[in-house]
Amino acid sequence: VSREAHPANSTVNVRGNLIGGKKFQVMAGPCSVESEKQLMTTAHAVKKAGATILRGGAFKPRTSPYEFQGLGLKGLKLLDKARRETGLGIITELLSENHADMIAEFTDIIQIGARNAQNFQLLIAAAKTGKPVLLKRGLSMKIEEWLLAGEYVLSNDNPNLMFCERGIRTFETYTRNTLDLSTIPIVKKESHAPIVIDPSQGAGRADLVIAMCKGAVAMGADALLIEVHPNPAEAWSDGVQQVSLELFAKLMHELKPFIAAA
Ligand code: PEP
Repeated sequence: VSREAHPANSTVNVRGNLIGGKKFQVMAGPCSVESEKQLMTTAHAVKKAGATILRGGAFKPRTSPYEFQGLGLKGLKLLDKARRETGLGIITELLSENHADMIAEFTDIIQIGARNAQNFQLLIAAAKTGKPVLLKRGLSMKIEEWLLAGEYVLSNDNPNLMFCERGIRTFETYTRNTLDLSTIPIVKKESHAPIVIDPSQGAGRADLVIAMCKGAVAMGADALLIEVHPNPAEAWSDGVQQVSLELFAKLMHELKPFIAAA
């Protein structure tokens, strides 16, 4: 992942949209895929507001086994339908090596979540699908460990790696996690791979998402990964951190001058 080995910025091409290139990219969508109506409504709304990639969890890494675990294959098929209907690229999380080929069939980017950021066999399985891999920072992961985890993707013949900062666990409880925006210039300095910011997991609060997005753009992030839901109060997972369709449209509007100035 080091700049020494690869001085130029690398870009990841997702259905014609370059992440790490000149154009800023926004990935947005629900925390979990819940139903066809929820996903399609969200997909059309985020596309209209300017997102190019649709996020949505089909296999969910929930803290409690009694919470909603995702729709699984049914969720992947809905993501595929949304892709065909809107032309948006898809990003979804891979939880198990056994699912690597199945997930790769339905997605354009494989997300490795914070809880699996050092699950090296999973990273290798993701890399070997040949799909772009977005590697979240683990909850308690040092930057060096994160960069080294990224090596598991690159060293398995997959050049399409992106890092994603999503907040780390600190003593602070005002926010769900502490979003470490210092990783933007650090990853840019140390690595050629794009850096994506997830303010939804970072803050854990919808009311802070716009401000964090502005900060991320101003600091040189390549893309954002934002949770959006048509009715956050009724969401099956992480409702408090998902922004409504209206708030997402406002966010995209307010980000324009920041993107233009970046
Ligand atoms: C997610 O993006 O759905 C998710 C669970 O994120 P993280 O791995 O950052 O907790």
